[in-house]
Amino acid sequence: MSDAFDLAIIGAGPGGYVAAIRAAHRGLRVALVEKQGLGGVCLHTGCIPTKAMVASADLFRQAQSAAQWGITVPQAAAPLAAINARRQKVVEQLGAGIKTLLEKNRIQIFSGHGFLSSPSVIEVRDPAGRATAEISNPVAILLATGSRPMDLPVARRDGVNILNSDDLLAMNELPPDMVVLGGGYIGCEFASIFSALGSRVTIVEALDRLLPGLDRELGQWLERSFKRGGIGVALNSRVERVETGAPESSPSVRVVISGGASYSAGRLLVAVGRVPNTEGLGLENAGVALEGPYIRVDDQMRTSVPHIHAIGDVTGKLALAHVATAQARVVVENLAAAAEGSPLQKMNYDAVPASVFTHPEIATVGLTEEQAAARGIPCKVGRFPFAAIGKALASGNTEGFVKLIADSRDGRVIGGHIFGGHASELIGQVTLAVRFGLTAQQLTETIFAHPTLSESILEAAEGLFGKSTHVFSRR
Ligand SMILES: Cc1cc2nc3c(=O)[nH]c(=O)nc-3n(C[C@H](O)[C@H](O)[C@H](O)COP(=O)(O)OP(=O)(O)OC[C@H]3O[C@@H](n4cnc5c(N)ncnc54)[C@H](O)[C@@H]3O)c2cc1C
Repeated sequence: MSDAFDLAIIGAGPGGYVAAIRAAHRGLRVALVEKQGLGGVCLHTGCIPTKAMVASADLFRQAQSAAQWGITVPQAAAPLAAINARRQKVVEQLGAGIKTLLEKNRIQIFSGHGFLSSPSVIEVRDPAGRATAEISNPVAILLATGSRPMDLPVARRDGVNILNSDDLLAMNELPPDMVVLGGGYIGCEFASIFSALGSRVTIVEALDRLLPGLDRELGQWLERSFKRGGIGVALNSRVERVETGAPESSPSVRVVISGGASYSAGRLLVAVGRVPNTEGLGLENAGVALEGPYIRVDDQMRTSVPHIHAIGDVTGKLALAHVATAQARVVVENLAAAAEGSPLQKMNYDAVPASVFTHPEIATVGLTEEQAAARGIPCKVGRFPFAAIGKALASGNTEGFVKLIADSRDGRVIGGHIFGGHASELIGQVTLAVRFGLTAQQLTETIFAHPTLSESILEAAEGLFGKSTHVFSRR
């Protein structure tokens, strides 16, 4: 039995642990149940470890082309085990930081599997299924249990030849070749990393482009860039079956596509999506309703049970760490607001940035032209190539463009799509514009520092009026 809590959270990913800290800031007594590592998928097998690897891959790429920059690097090598060791240090440092923050905020951490034995009781269980603690009658409960890699019936994970993203991160030897099933952002990021480190990589995607959810041009540019860099891309390719041999045989996996083509390699990464962690949670004991495989929530992240909320990947909105965190903020602010009688907040997904950490980087926010058309919004497009920016040339970031979409009725910026440069950093500026309804005119009246890649945003905004300074357009 434990003390009464204002908020009991199951899952300590970027949704759950941030909710815990913010709730503590608001003076709530918080219990946090986690069965693996504080920080969740994001810290242990998602955002952070992959970005640590991207950093190593980028450095290796630069070291190999150092001569172009006037630098002599005698012999660059990229042993995967050493890259993983650095990655692990980053993860451990951040994990320790989260633990300290939780402790300093007096959040009570329960290690174990959280299970709803009724709508108002969470049982904490050890790996053998024995109850080790019970959290009774918290004022509110928050489910933030995240997601795990999806298995594909035609390519079932065996952890040896056929791997998911968790397996790939556990691998200490670089495979000479690899097929990646799935051209979404996780597949493309791993393809980019492993190709840079020296594997021969082929991406097999069932749809007609990479990064299918994003602005069409982004996927097309990535495909061209990948192919130039030696990554094979097979689109419109639906897998019929996968044959595997002994792991030491070369190749040990053969992916057969409907229509007859096949791709062979040492390893197969299946990166076709993620499934929400809803099983074994006792949702049925609490009466929490599902919508498809996900927990059903409204725009305040309330489930079908009034005092139970859910956030993050388990809700099937946008499976991104910062979305889980934003949802956490809405839940906590509303718990506090309800107590104070203040107005409640709602989630708004119109200005959610998303970044793809391939080489080159990609980032996007707001509407694409196609989405604007589907909503009946007349729009105009301003674009600007990085190649025309001084800083891009100086820093070797000339590939790609910034594209801004504005509502042609009032000039408000409603979307931004960036290929290349430091897209994941630049997108923050466009996100502010989309979020607060800035117009293209207001962007052109803003001073951007020189020389920076950000100037491409100013120039793309000027492009919406046909007046980019550094490209000539006929008037
Ligand atoms: C390879 C990869 C790269 C990614 N890169 C990015 C990126 O660059 N940017 C980005 O925004 N997103 C990225 N993501 C997605 C991001 O990791 C997720 O969207 C995010 O982690 C979701 O957060 P969450 O809080 O919903 O859940 P999670 O991070 O999945 O955490 C859920 C936690 O709940 C725990 N848990 C589950 N069930 C129970 C239970 N019954 N009892 C106790 N604990 C439980 C789990 O152990 C886990 O720690 C990436 C994902 C992957 C796989």
